[in-house]
Amino acid sequence: MNQTNRETNRLQGFAEVFARYDWQETQRRIQDTTPAEVERVLQRAGSLSPLDFLALVSPAAQGYLEEMARISQALTRRRFGKTVQLYAPLYLSNECLNSCLYCGFSREIQRPRVRLTQEQTLAEVAVLKELGIEHVLLVTGDFSHQAGNQYLNQALEWVRPHFAQVSMEVQPLAQAEYQALADRGLHGVMVYQETYGPNYTQFHPKGSKKDFFWRLGTPDRLGAAGVHKIGLGVLLGLEDWRTDSFFVALQVAYLEKHYWRSRISISFPRLRPAEVGFSPPHPVCDSALVQLVLAYRIFNENLELSLSTRESARLRDALVPLGITSLSAGSKTEPGGYANPKAALEQFEINDGRSPKEMALALAQSGLDLIVRDWDPHFGLDPNFGT
Ligand code: SF4
Repeated sequence: MNQTNRETNRLQGFAEVFARYDWQETQRRIQDTTPAEVERVLQRAGSLSPLDFLALVSPAAQGYLEEMARISQALTRRRFGKTVQLYAPLYLSNECLNSCLYCGFSREIQRPRVRLTQEQTLAEVAVLKELGIEHVLLVTGDFSHQAGNQYLNQALEWVRPHFAQVSMEVQPLAQAEYQALADRGLHGVMVYQETYGPNYTQFHPKGSKKDFFWRLGTPDRLGAAGVHKIGLGVLLGLEDWRTDSFFVALQVAYLEKHYWRSRISISFPRLRPAEVGFSPPHPVCDSALVQLVLAYRIFNENLELSLSTRESARLRDALVPLGITSLSAGSKTEPGGYANPKAALEQFEINDGRSPKEMALALAQSGLDLIVRDWDPHFGLDPNFGT
């Protein structure tokens, strides 16, 4: 992707909407929200605008968490029934040319790096299948020469036949590259903006990730490429979570309007210890995380809300019945970590170490069903389907 094409991302798509909102002004509106405004928004739950979302993440809404939990749970059950999907990350590579201050894969860490071969990848696949996993998220750092488009296509070919759904969390790609991967059966792509705030480049000082607008335009390219699921989120702890989350809600509303064929997924990555020893400048407490999950569900009942093993078993068990619809389990955050644990550099330490089978049991005890496959492209193509 040349510089000229990258520059156009500043002027079109979601970037154009984003430019209409000021960070400080948004922050001020959230802080100034009154309890009466929160009550008015809660009465209209289920069909809210991003400006309504401001009230749901405000300090004033903290006094309404019980009511928000009731509404969120009812909306979730109405839209998803008693179902939760389980997935596991499959790290393909820990090579990276970026220096994100918070990440265990930062190039500043002088440790040997790994990129899995076909044989090593299939060894990971075998362990995941044994664990009962049917949805995997392929993860790499950002090192296009080693784990670029060609390698990602190869890896998808190795892995795709073994799982019901395969998604990716890799460096931002061009629209044509996403299109080719979708044609090979890629289900979804997670691309977290990390922060929409003015200090983005301070946290991402080197490498291609410095380019805020190339990353901001990625969900547009995914929608245009027809990728079925687009994953958004911010890295909780980098900036004021209330303001950052408003911009996620703004992007959700934009994407739903322009790329209605794609589903939107929201994740809640909260900063965990990593080898770089980064201290989050704006730590997010448990009660704030609960408020945020409830706020997204009340804002939009169709969103997939996903909670990873970064969070504790206790918090995950409490949050799942209130609005979460996707969970990771048994995760390893180093390449080759399922077949050979702790042999390579990991991205971050996980918190909930329960296996997928233990997780499925915990879900069953809460009266929730585990969903293996929630969508299949052939449903829409087979003229005899349903006859
Ligand atoms: S967050 Fe991603 S891009 Fe940044 S250092 Fe880690 S792996 Fe590389």
